Amino acid sequence: MEKRHSSGLRPRPNLGPGGAAREVAAPQAVPVPVAVSAPASRPSVMQAPVLVLNATFEPINVTAVRRALVLMLKGVAQAEETNRTEVHSTSKAIQVPSVIRLLSYRHIPQQSRALSRKNILLRDRNTCQFCGAALPASELTLDHVMPRSRGGRSSWENLVASCYSCNNRKGDRTPEEAGLKLRRRPRPFTLHTSRQLMRLIGHRDEKWRKYLFY
Ligand SMILES: [Zn+2]
Repeated sequence: MEKRHSSGLRPRPNLGPGGAAREVAAPQAVPVPVAVSAPASRPSVMQAPVLVLNATFEPINVTAVRRALVLMLKGVAQAEETNRTEVHSTSKAIQVPSVIRLLSYRHIPQQSRALSRKNILLRDRNTCQFCGAALPASELTLDHVMPRSRGGRSSWENLVASCYSCNNRKGDRTPEEAGLKLRRRPRPFTLHTSRQLMRLIGHRDEKWRKYLFY
């Protein structure tokens, strides 16, 4: 997980739908000696999503402007695309990035996502994997496909998003025994999955397209 910065930046925002891919491209955080602040009238600027490319131009992550600026100021990444907005540090104005690229190549493990409730819901798009209902996170629970009581593990392959109704109906049974059918086989949250999410988010920013749709 990430350390807090002592740079006076805003707290890390949640990204929008899909909440995508936040941790991958974050090298060890060190304090940045420059305070970046968005104009008070534009608080959302620092929270806008930025596409992160590996040194090879392969898209690997989506982060927030605030984090992207930290990476740029540390010399870890450079802007490939910017938008017209500027933010001001103590010494200079910086164009807000839309796409950044890491200057040195980072190996991204095939399964780099933490197994968490949040990431399972993200992978399953907040959709009950039995009845297909799309629900707010608060109305979803995690279901062990093979019940824990029968040796089912807490893993990417055995955990799915489920509404409470399907979860109760299933109880301590397998989907087959309960007459339920999984919408799709649960898989690890891989780079492929993140790319799908990045594509969804990418629809919001034309400048992302040439990196995402290849
Ligand atoms: Zn359901």
